[in-house]
Amino acid sequence: MRSILLSASLILLILLTLSCSGNPAKTSVVLILIDTLSADHLGCYGYTRETSPAIDSLAASGIVFEHCQAQGPWTLPGMASIFTGLTERSHGCSYYNGFSHGLDPEVPTITSVLKDNGYSTAALVNVGYLGEPFGITRGNDYFWINEDGSDNADVTVDSLLSYFEHTDPGEPFFVTIHFFDAHLPYEPPAPWDTLFQLSGTSGGTEWPAMEYCSNQAVIQHMTAMYDSEIRWTDSQLSRLFAGLRQTGRADNTLFILVADHGEEFMEHGDWGHAHNLYQQALHIPLIMSGPGIEPGSSVSRNVGQYDILPTLLTYLNIPVPDHVEGIDIFGVIPENRVIPSSGVMVDTVSVAGISGDSKVIWFVEPDSSETFNLAEDPGETTLLPTDSLLFEEVLSYWAWPCICTPTENEAALIDRHRLEALGYIR
Ligand SMILES: [Zn+2]
Repeated sequence: MRSILLSASLILLILLTLSCSGNPAKTSVVLILIDTLSADHLGCYGYTRETSPAIDSLAASGIVFEHCQAQGPWTLPGMASIFTGLTERSHGCSYYNGFSHGLDPEVPTITSVLKDNGYSTAALVNVGYLGEPFGITRGNDYFWINEDGSDNADVTVDSLLSYFEHTDPGEPFFVTIHFFDAHLPYEPPAPWDTLFQLSGTSGGTEWPAMEYCSNQAVIQHMTAMYDSEIRWTDSQLSRLFAGLRQTGRADNTLFILVADHGEEFMEHGDWGHAHNLYQQALHIPLIMSGPGIEPGSSVSRNVGQYDILPTLLTYLNIPVPDHVEGIDIFGVIPENRVIPSSGVMVDTVSVAGISGDSKVIWFVEPDSSETFNLAEDPGETTLLPTDSLLFEEVLSYWAWPCICTPTENEAALIDRHRLEALGYIR
């Protein structure tokens, strides 16, 4: 009788333990990718114009990474770093040897890892670089793409909410939703188009010929149109959050909001992005909100896009693959860690690194470099003597071999006209 009682007590103990702490429901994940979103155009990053009430509320409910650096200044390398945890040099997804290279099919992505761990996976995206030939978003059970969805935020949100109507609410999910509205041309719909500039889109949605771009009225107008696109996208995010809350999908869900790169407004003599590695193109927002994350918290140390995969997998108790270069930024972030970025474009290559407050940009041809202190000079206007230690790190990064075999298939070929249309080549 005594042994039977002991066994019954043991089973009760095991059942109590399981009910208190064991086998919790898996946390779902919504990854929000906002193309071409500079951190310094958002309220939660100090912008004075009211561009981002919904994003600001997400930030208030979670953690803001104040200094997140893009690994490349345009869509393909930045997106590849987000999904792989690798730098541009290592994943090799960029434009060289005459065409754009896709992701090595052997490299795990956030989507493929979560799918292997029992998540249902879906992606709704609005640019060709996130399409099948490039492999960055592979592994989705459901995939929706508009290859040039520059005015598509409302339709994209509708499509995601509709998708959820046909899925099991009890099943853990990983969803990627991508917005392309803030990318040129800036064509916000009414009434958002006149929110910050009365002339609205009638004042122009594209930059004029280069010789007129430094005109202050032009810069102010284009900045206002860009800000209107952000506010328009933000209004659709508000609808998305409301829809997820109403259906209970926001419960036990981690939200990650990040951009692939920022945007320039002639601060360094150019507009758009993909032309240089100044902070206008590289300083991007990174916000996370979900179970266990303290509302209203922030991190001031430098992080990068390539930290998202290892951070997410660690958060979900999934092992991080050994080859990943980023770190778990919910853990200890070394103060003097070097975070590299590089821009391999058609006619130019430049490489940059940040460490603490210091930044070095190396212009590979012709060979020259610039050093800045980002804390004292965030606009990068005052050249300092070369930070030789950081410069050596930048050279060392560029000497790394690509650890992947980027795809060179016919389908990944983006011709020069397409890159011209996107403003990357002119
Ligand atoms: Zn982009």
